[in-house]
Amino acid sequence: MATTTAIPSTKISGGSFLLEERKVDEVFTPEDFTEQHQLIGQTAEEFAVNEILPNAEKMEHKDFSVTRDLLKKAGEPGLSGDEIPETYGGLEMDKVTAAVIADHIAKYAGFATTWGGHTGIGTLPIVYFGTEEQKKKYLPRLAAGEIVGAYALSEASSGSDALNCRARAQLSPDGKHYILNGEKMWITNAGFADLFTVFAKVDGEKFSAFLVEKTFPGFSIGAEEHKMGIRGSSTCPLILNDCKVPVENLLGEIGKGHVIAFNILNVGRFKLGAMCVGGARLSLENAIAYAKQRKAFSKVIADFGLVREKLANMATLIYVGEALVYRTVGMMDVALNEVDKAGADAAKETRKAIEEYAVECSILKVWGSEMIDYVVDETVQIYGGYGFVEEYPAERAYRDARINRIFEGTNEINRLIITGFLLKRAMSGQLPLMPAIKKLMDEVLAGPGLGEDLEGPFLGVSGVADAEDGPTEGRGVSGDCDRHDASVSLTSHGQDRIGGEKDHCGSCRGRHAAHATGDPAAPGEA
Ligand SMILES: Cc1cc2nc3c(=O)[nH]c(=O)nc-3n(C[C@H](O)[C@H](O)[C@H](O)COP(=O)(O)OP(=O)(O)OC[C@H]3O[C@@H](n4cnc5c(N)ncnc54)[C@H](O)[C@@H]3O)c2cc1C
Repeated sequence: MATTTAIPSTKISGGSFLLEERKVDEVFTPEDFTEQHQLIGQTAEEFAVNEILPNAEKMEHKDFSVTRDLLKKAGEPGLSGDEIPETYGGLEMDKVTAAVIADHIAKYAGFATTWGGHTGIGTLPIVYFGTEEQKKKYLPRLAAGEIVGAYALSEASSGSDALNCRARAQLSPDGKHYILNGEKMWITNAGFADLFTVFAKVDGEKFSAFLVEKTFPGFSIGAEEHKMGIRGSSTCPLILNDCKVPVENLLGEIGKGHVIAFNILNVGRFKLGAMCVGGARLSLENAIAYAKQRKAFSKVIADFGLVREKLANMATLIYVGEALVYRTVGMMDVALNEVDKAGADAAKETRKAIEEYAVECSILKVWGSEMIDYVVDETVQIYGGYGFVEEYPAERAYRDARINRIFEGTNEINRLIITGFLLKRAMSGQLPLMPAIKKLMDEVLAGPGLGEDLEGPFLGVSGVADAEDGPTEGRGVSGDCDRHDASVSLTSHGQDRIGGEKDHCGSCRGRHAAHATGDPAAPGEA
């Protein structure tokens, strides 16, 4: 049963954070967790501490029988089926719950990757795009962890450019099977998964998705990759050699595979963001514990200001990450609550509600993955030499974190998604970005008007500028902006570090623009 009681009621448009101010009660934070959220968080925490962490070494050495057992155990209290509808054996919880579980499971990245691959990208394609028969056949066993899911989009020659895949699907002459040929690369869980969402082009043109069981003829798994990190997860290529997939295992529509691929990755991204927060929090805890007991110069290193600064920066970034995660999933849940679950268009409306926050999900992925890299790096630094050796947790966390900037869409691709989606929404009028940009440009170009009551850094600008027309060597305007000081002249203060165009404060930007445009109304030029 979905937990909804504490979710704010205002539906917020995706990307609107750029333009709109929110009231406190419109923003979801961990303080809004319901009792159910707290309970599932506690369950996930206990599972991580009592079941996952004690088995981490075995998984690190690729004992995947342990991994499979853990996935089954995770299924018992519902940690694998929280996003699966109750009708198909899941708990049908909200996205806040999904984030809470991901946050706690992240204590060991090797298993978290496995679990994310299984419950997210390995299961959700069926939840959102499966037929009734497909859902009945696969979802209950996926929810229970009896079978393990995986998602096979990437190929050796097409990762970011996934739609350019080479895998092919051809309908068999008797019309009963699709015959798949090709190879997939870097597939999480491949070494032990049972069910794969595989993307291939029907007739070499129509990008489509198929549910492929590992027992289907012509399907095989390549060797495990030797990875820098997340060694406790399985990553292998798939080989499709005249692989016979029953026609009823086509997922979604022919030629619409991209809708599946991108929507699923979107959900994967908010979970990845939540896992980054959870992983970073554990690193910070380790760093604090170590700093409190390691001594140098007769003091514990936690007493040194430079070490404290590191811990404070780490905590700050984690706090921001946490706020981003729960604010985003809270917004998603409001939108999802409006979907009529019994309606004919429920699946489509659900996908739309999730896609609404594609920008926020990509921001979360980028921020989370870069934040955890900073945190694990500083943790290694705090551990000093011990940070560089395997017996201490800092070393593995450092290696494990790096993948987050690469999978679920590289951070470069996600940055493109952020700008691409924002512009798309702006152009279609869904987001009134263009009028806001114009208004801002007008304000910037106009600068503060004469006679206005100026405040803060603008105080006194017009007086100074009136007195001295034009660039004057050595003219001090200390207080105008933090780039101005008595020793910096107007001819040089705006140069950026690379020597290109400048980074002015609001007040001087107005004056410089006026130099360029000859606007007589600009301050100092009257
Ligand atoms: C451990 C691991 C697990 C994985 N699990 C899965 C999985 O379960 N399923 C799956 O399908 N895939 C999986 N992947 C694949 C992963 O998603 C891809 O590696 C990733 O999408 C990048 O693709 P690529 O490696 O081909 O890099 P490329 O696409 O070749 O990119 C190389 C570099 O170029 C940059 N780049 C590419 N295009 C642009 C552009 N337009 N603008 C700017 N920069 C650009 C990229 O950001 C990157 O820095 C996994 C990979 C790893 C390593």
